[in-house]
Amino acid sequence: MNVPLLSVVIPMYNEQEVLPLLIARLRPLLDGAGIAYEVVAVDDGSTDATGAALIQAARQWPGLRVVRLRRNSGHQAALTAGLHRSRGHYVASIDADLQDPPEKILEMLDLARAEDLDIVYGVRDDRTTDSFFKRHTAQLYYRMMRRLVGKKIPHNAGDFRLLSRIAVDALKAMPEHQPVYRLLVPWLGFPSGEVTYRRDARAAGSTKYPLSKMIKLAVDSVTNFSAAPLRLATWSGLLTFLACLVLGVYSIVQHSRGDTVSGWTSLFTAILFVGGLQLLCLGLLGEYLGRLYAEVKGRPTYIVGYDSAMHVPAQEPVDEADGDRLSGLAAR
Ligand code: UDP
Ligand code: MG
Repeated sequence: MNVPLLSVVIPMYNEQEVLPLLIARLRPLLDGAGIAYEVVAVDDGSTDATGAALIQAARQWPGLRVVRLRRNSGHQAALTAGLHRSRGHYVASIDADLQDPPEKILEMLDLARAEDLDIVYGVRDDRTTDSFFKRHTAQLYYRMMRRLVGKKIPHNAGDFRLLSRIAVDALKAMPEHQPVYRLLVPWLGFPSGEVTYRRDARAAGSTKYPLSKMIKLAVDSVTNFSAAPLRLATWSGLLTFLACLVLGVYSIVQHSRGDTVSGWTSLFTAILFVGGLQLLCLGLLGEYLGRLYAEVKGRPTYIVGYDSAMHVPAQEPVDEADGDRLSGLAAR
């Protein structure tokens, strides 16, 4: 099969409302660009009509390829599935909800080809359409990431970007199980450029990123890239030790004066404080240990049930129960 110039990876979870709008905007755009392309729609175990609608759409649109994950595995895992299966010389990733304008993909492609870039970030210069809460939590997130990972992280660059085949292969070669691409991609340090755009409101449907998923992404981001939280134990231990020295001297002085009965409040507070601190540090250790454990077990983050490019009927998925990651390894 001919290798397309461009693959467009779109993770989708329960996006039945937005799907017709997405197709109506994307298809004329890509058809009109006069390039060989494939759209890799990754159905992240949707429970609504997204899966059926995609298969229906693929019958009329040869450029549309449908990859269905067996269960909801999360945005980053769906993105991984799409990146690993895409075949294009360049691979763009975009959300299904039309918050990021698909027209910019072609601009990214032109920029990457003209300047021989491996990464083109979509950078949001205007987020006024996002909710107050989303804007501020996002700002906090990017500020924290820049502190932890370094200044290389472009501000307000989410998962709308274009990667060259070299960059995709570099990402594929990484053994991480819970990749956070918006940090991993800048970490690569490959030649990169930016395309700025205005972030629109979601075209239809509701957000698939509730607070719980946002927190998971933030915790994954920190633990994936930094051991700094672990150092909290060391520093707070040091501080408590210094405080202990001072208090030790104080108690000896008080003892020599024969004044040792009162002090229940300070004792009680100190016990609570140190106990809380220890639990916090244990919890942090647990976060890292849990992730280490997950990496060691090496379970696949997603399992592909169906890929329309493999000519497998939708109702009878091939035996890929051991996961795409494993079959990918076997093929190497
Ligand atoms: N998404 C997914 N799996 C999930 C959650 C979300 O594939 O478990 C997809 C979703 O369909 C969308 C993209 O990730 O294409 C971003 O989600 P959303 O637009 O709801 O996030 P927000 O823009 O509100 O942060
Ligand atoms: Mg969105």
